[in-house]
Amino acid sequence: MRLRLFIFSSVFLGIAGCTLSSTSYQRPMEPVTIALDEEASAKRLAKAITFPTLSHQDPAQFVGEPFLGLHRYLEEQFPLLYETAEKQIIGEYSLLLKIPGSDATLKPALFMSHLDVVPVEPGTEGDWTHPAFSGEIAGGFIWGRGALDVKNGVLTWHEAAEYLLKEGFQPQRTLYFAFGHDEEVGGKQGNKEIAADLKERHVHLEFVVDEGGFLISGFYPELGDRPVAIISIAEKAYMTVHFTAKGEGGHSSAPPTHTSVGKLASALHKLENNPMPANITEPMALHFKHVAPEMPFFKRLLMGNPHLSAPLLKSFLAKRPKTNALIRTTTALTMFNGGIKENVVPQSAKATVNFRLLPTDTPEDVKKHILETIDDPDISLETGLWTTPPKPADIDGLGYTILSDAIHEIYPDAVVTPFLVTGATDSRYYGEIADNVYRFLGAEVSMEDLKSFHGTNERISIKSYANGIRTAIQILKHSGQ
Ligand SMILES: [Zn+2]
Repeated sequence: MRLRLFIFSSVFLGIAGCTLSSTSYQRPMEPVTIALDEEASAKRLAKAITFPTLSHQDPAQFVGEPFLGLHRYLEEQFPLLYETAEKQIIGEYSLLLKIPGSDATLKPALFMSHLDVVPVEPGTEGDWTHPAFSGEIAGGFIWGRGALDVKNGVLTWHEAAEYLLKEGFQPQRTLYFAFGHDEEVGGKQGNKEIAADLKERHVHLEFVVDEGGFLISGFYPELGDRPVAIISIAEKAYMTVHFTAKGEGGHSSAPPTHTSVGKLASALHKLENNPMPANITEPMALHFKHVAPEMPFFKRLLMGNPHLSAPLLKSFLAKRPKTNALIRTTTALTMFNGGIKENVVPQSAKATVNFRLLPTDTPEDVKKHILETIDDPDISLETGLWTTPPKPADIDGLGYTILSDAIHEIYPDAVVTPFLVTGATDSRYYGEIADNVYRFLGAEVSMEDLKSFHGTNERISIKSYANGIRTAIQILKHSGQ
C-alpha cells in the first residue's frame, strides 16, 4: 500500500513538475493594425455568394455558367490581382493564379480555397433566416451558402492580394492561388488537375495553405475570450467499403433463419458496436501540448502529457461524436439496399460503410478489423473510393511559423495550436509536390456558427471576415519575403 502510494506520488509529482515548468509555445508578435473598408469587403463576399456555384453528387446536374459568372465578377472586383497574376483555367472552371516572385531560388507557396458549394437540402430552404443565395448582410453578418465553406476563403485571398498589390507589393517568393470548382465532390477535375499541371512543370512548393482550420472562440471555456487558432497539420483519410451478403432466395412464406438482409444487418450491427481502437495520434498530442501551458492546473496536467494521460483523454474525448472522430478511425453506416418485393426473400443485400482513417491506420488495418469483426464467409467486401492524405506537416516548417506569426499579429491573445482535420480537403492532391501542407483560414468562428457548415443559416460576421483578411495580408506579406 505504502509502496503504491509512493509510486503514485512520485509519478504524479514527476508529471506535475514537468508540466508546471512547461513554458508557452506561443510566439508573441507586435500587434499590427490594418485599416480596411470592412463594409465594402463584406459586400463583395455577399455578391459572390449570389452565384449558385453548386456541386451535385450527380454530375449531370452540374451547371457551369455560375462559375464563369463568378470568374468574371472576381476579375472585375480585383483588377490589380488579375493584371499582375498569370491566370490559368484548369478543368474549364478552376482557377490558378501566379504572382511571380523576384527570387527564383525560393520555392513557391500556394494558397487554396474552392469556388463550389454544397446545395441546400431540399425542404429546408424555408428554414433560412435569409435565403441561401440572396447574399444578404444583416445584423453584422454576411449570410448564405459559402459564407464559411468557403467563398469567404476565395474572397479573403483575393482581398489580401489586391490590398498588398495596391501598396506596391512585389514578392520575392512566387505565390500561387488555386481555386478548385469541384472540392465538394472530390476535386478530381479541379485541384487534382492543378496539382498534376504544376508537377508536370516541375514546380515544388515550400508549403500549401488550404481550408480546414480557423480561429474558434469558446473552444475551451477555461481560455475565456482567447480564441484557439487551429492550424491543421494532418487530415484523416477517406475510405468507402461496399458489403454484399449472399443468401438463399425463395418465397417469404418459408424463409431461412437468416436471409441476406438479416446476415448483413447483423454484420453491420457488430461493426457499429466494435469501433476501431482509440489512439492519440501525433497531431492531436501536439495540439494538447500546445494548449496545456495556457490552461489551469488540472487541465495542464492532463493535456501537457498526452501520452501518459491517454486513457483519461480518450475516455473523455470518446463521449461526443465530434471529439471521438479525433481519436479513432470512424465507422459510418451510410447506405443499405436489399430486396425487390415484400414477399420475396432476397438473394443478396448490399450496404456501404464510410470510414475516416486516423493518420496511423491503413486501409489494410480497416479491412482486417472488418473481417475479424463480422466473421461471416457469406459477406464479401469491395473497397470503393479511398484517399491518401499527405504526411502530417512539420510544425517547425516555414509555413507554420508564418501562419503563427500572422495570427499573433492580428489576434495577440490567440492560442495557436496544431490540429487534425476530420474531413478530407483538396490539399491532399499537393502532398507529392509540397514540403508541407497546412490548413488554416484566419476568420474567427463561434462554436454555434460551426454547426452551419453544410447546414442551415451559414453565416460569417463582418468583423470576423475582415480580421481573416487582415491575417491573410500578413500571411502573404511574410510568405513573399
Ligand atoms: Zn470546403
